[in-house]
Amino acid sequence: MSDTERDDHFHDHCGVFGIWNHDEAPNLTYLGLYALQHRGQESAGIVSVHDGRLLVERGMGMVADVFTPGTLKRLKGNRAIGHVRYSTAGESHLANAQPLKLDSYRGEMAICHNGNLVNALLIRYALERQGSIFTSTSDTEVILHLMARSGARTWEDSIVDALRQVNGAYSLLFLSPDRLIAVRDPRGFRPLSIGALDGATVIASETCAFDLIGARFVRDVEPGEMVVLSDRGIESHKPFGVEQPAQCVFEYVYFSRPDSEVFGRSVSLVRERLGQELAREAPVEADLVVPVPDSGVSAALGFSGASGIPFQMGLVRNHYVGRTFIEPRQAIRHFGVKIKLNPVRRLIEGKRVVLVDDSIVRGTTSRKIVSMVRSVGAREVHVRISCPPTIGPCYYGIDTPLRSELIGASHTVEEIRQHLRADSLAYLSLEGLQRAVGEGHQAFCNACYTDKYPVPFPREETAQLRLFEKPR
Ligand code: SF4
Repeated sequence: MSDTERDDHFHDHCGVFGIWNHDEAPNLTYLGLYALQHRGQESAGIVSVHDGRLLVERGMGMVADVFTPGTLKRLKGNRAIGHVRYSTAGESHLANAQPLKLDSYRGEMAICHNGNLVNALLIRYALERQGSIFTSTSDTEVILHLMARSGARTWEDSIVDALRQVNGAYSLLFLSPDRLIAVRDPRGFRPLSIGALDGATVIASETCAFDLIGARFVRDVEPGEMVVLSDRGIESHKPFGVEQPAQCVFEYVYFSRPDSEVFGRSVSLVRERLGQELAREAPVEADLVVPVPDSGVSAALGFSGASGIPFQMGLVRNHYVGRTFIEPRQAIRHFGVKIKLNPVRRLIEGKRVVLVDDSIVRGTTSRKIVSMVRSVGAREVHVRISCPPTIGPCYYGIDTPLRSELIGASHTVEEIRQHLRADSLAYLSLEGLQRAVGEGHQAFCNACYTDKYPVPFPREETAQLRLFEKPR
């Protein structure tokens, strides 16, 4: 499998988890990160507080690889934060694994970040010129430097000072020996929720992390809100100006787990409505609705329900594909896709198939899937995509390829259909997407479909663009 094949999808970004006032804090953080593993598979880390000091364990790889019983035993205390990462800004190596830790005259502080700062590089250059030395290439370290330089007396004020200077997307957790602080940027790009468990307070990127540890969902951290947990209890502050929210709609389309409640809605139900809208907008005569698993399943169920065309798991996913595997010397047709997906001939042979997927990025994988479905005897293959064509990259925390590599940015739907060799192709319209999201859809970012970016980024800075549009 070539890199291009492996990466022909948007990548997840990061997940954060924190817990305050629970004797099992490090173990529960481990479980919380386990539930958030889909949001980042490159590195994982936990910081806990014991005897007034921060204890740090971080490593490259999946949560289960990084945390052995030995490493978990070294983490003690009743408060902790943790992070899973897929690199959006900054390369993939241990120095960039989070939580990052800061030692300053105020004491120790650790930080976890989900999102992307659009002006991080510009600030970094300015700080470096003034003598700051960075230890990672992560945009998150910029926040730590700004905090360290702030003259503010308290951690809270130094965080506000720092965040007033950055732009972009951030759902952040900070941990000092006596405080856990959660902050969501004023536009609320990335999700962040508060839960409760046996007198403890829990904070996570997605509510599926609460379900695993038996915590109860309480509410979301609001856009622009800073929540401070300490021995005084929970305090809420709104230190930033009010902005029009721009929550990431792609969390519904693809990123979040379907069993999570994100931005006040069930991901699974929104995804199903995407499929229903798609069936109404782009009906087709067919015998079977087949999802591209796993992310296409809910939308395919919605398509099937609204169209009356039976749903079948005609493609089976191998869930145990590691990041590295031995590629055979002998060329095997569709090997790169086959390692992940296999068609069920008995279901597909002789049938007119509606193939439902959540997005087409470069088009390479989709073309192979269509071909694979035909190779087991499908009579017709109709591709339906549960969102509009992706025409722009994301600057707010999703790892996307270069604009020039996005097939939707440079080709018409008919040209893409021809490239896929599908009998028909249709995307959900922006209006359909907004209907599926429902009331309050104005509070969502849809820039990768519309090219209308809610937070401007310095286009003229080629270095900045290099940071975000990583060539592969
Ligand atoms: Fe989400 Fe797309 Fe906006 Fe990025 S550009 S935050 S992926 S909706």
